[in-house]
Amino acid sequence: PYDVLVVGGGPAGAAAAIYAARKGIRTGVVAERFGGQVSDTMAIENFISVKATDGPKLVAGLEQHVLDYDVDLMKTQKAVRLEKKEFVEVELENGAILKSKTVILATGARWREMNVPGEHEYRGKGVAYCPHCDGPLFKGKKTAVIGGGNSGIEAAIDLAGIVEHVTVLEFGDTLRADDVLVRKAESLPNVTIIKEAMTTEVIGDGERVIGLKYTDRKTDESHLVDVAGIFVQIGLVPNSEFLKDTLTLSNRGEIVIDGHGQTSIPGVFAAGDVTTTPYKQIIISMGGGATAALGAFDYLIRN
Ligand code: FAD
Repeated sequence: PYDVLVVGGGPAGAAAAIYAARKGIRTGVVAERFGGQVSDTMAIENFISVKATDGPKLVAGLEQHVLDYDVDLMKTQKAVRLEKKEFVEVELENGAILKSKTVILATGARWREMNVPGEHEYRGKGVAYCPHCDGPLFKGKKTAVIGGGNSGIEAAIDLAGIVEHVTVLEFGDTLRADDVLVRKAESLPNVTIIKEAMTTEVIGDGERVIGLKYTDRKTDESHLVDVAGIFVQIGLVPNSEFLKDTLTLSNRGEIVIDGHGQTSIPGVFAAGDVTTTPYKQIIISMGGGATAALGAFDYLIRN
């Protein structure tokens, strides 16, 4: 068996693997797509000490760093089941069963998409999902935020300090965000909130986003909003479906962990966007991966 088996090859999984391998223990990594969300990222400007990089470069760096150690890297392999027996067993989609004394789950998350024409085409060319990451790219420009929940309204308040104007489009007839946030957003002169608005299309000029279309659900009329950026804030879905009946998840499906990255199953740790850790960012996931690996090592020397 492995001492530590990491499931997931994003920043959290890579950090966990490196920290584990540096303890000289037998370490494996299973990843459906090595690099995770970072592979889909264009500009990265908040990875501290690296002023600017991009997703593919950072992913190449992660892989080189992991392979610098004696780590079994199993790419394009998906975990479908986890069970604690004598060891923790992880079953892969291809039927293989991997055994390990400890497991670190770092399967990340995915942004819920609008599924409208133009969204995929202009992803990274005006369609964005992370205001902390991409907000500054729209300095002085007009932007829209899709979604009036906490993350949408927080994004609008955040963007209002950077961009020229923010239009929030909420599908329902009320905003689902906390009152304090709604009051704050409503008080800002450069934020407009439109309710009962169904986004129908992302409009671009072939290179970049230039606007979006929405339908007013009360009147059925279609409107065009002229924006350079569209922040989609309709939910972040943790990749934890295969763990549903195995360990404790929050009501949003995030793996509940303690300060050591420990889950509800002894010897099973978790890190990064798939967990209850607040704020989903590369640097935060890496910190979580390091914590989970040290947590797992601690567990190994005590058991
Ligand atoms: P992920 O990166 O989601 O990696 C999850 C890994 O698990 C992947 O390897 C995946 O294939 C694998 N996996 C999932 N399910 C299974 C399974 N069942 N079996 C095996 N493997 C599985 N953050 C920043 O700090 N700065 C930015 O500029 C920035 N820009 C972003 C731009 C975009 C477009 C997106 C989508 C995100 C951005 N983020 C940014 C957020 C950042 O990418 C995430 O916070 C970070 O990647 C989370 O790392 P993770 O390792 O927890 O998960």
